[in-house]
Amino acid sequence: MMRKGADMPGRCIHCNEIAEPGKPRRILYLNIWLQVAMLLLFLVFNVLALIPILIVSLIFRKTAKVRIPVCGKHRRKRLWMTVTTVTLLAASIGLGVMAARDSAYQDSIFLIAAAIFVVAFVLAIIRGQLLRAKKIDKEIVILGGAKPPFLDSLAEYPGH
Ligand SMILES: [Zn+2]
Repeated sequence: MMRKGADMPGRCIHCNEIAEPGKPRRILYLNIWLQVAMLLLFLVFNVLALIPILIVSLIFRKTAKVRIPVCGKHRRKRLWMTVTTVTLLAASIGLGVMAARDSAYQDSIFLIAAAIFVVAFVLAIIRGQLLRAKKIDKEIVILGGAKPPFLDSLAEYPGH
């Protein structure tokens, strides 16, 4: 939990090694039920749902700028995660478009596209952001996803 605009200690959020604070990143918060609803929408309507999904997420998301310190090792790990997620997403959209054109194998191609999208979606939720926003309001940001070595080095929240 931190105030908006505050800086984190200069240690990796995964392993607590000394790390640069990094560039300010925009953290997004979107209600988990909205995320589930979007996933269901995509499974039913496939590529047709992409634009409504994008619009809804733009309206309902909350954002905060946070500098998240990560060491070199964990930075590279995250990069591979991002590459994998983007590749899977591109593959599922490509297959969706292919299925829309191909009448012979349409159903099975749609199914494969949907399955790949689900995997990419889950990967994006779990690893897409360095830290997940649990709550964002005007003054505070509550983040989850940091690992115990880093968390143990922080002060306890006096409110509990
Ligand atoms: Zn690390």
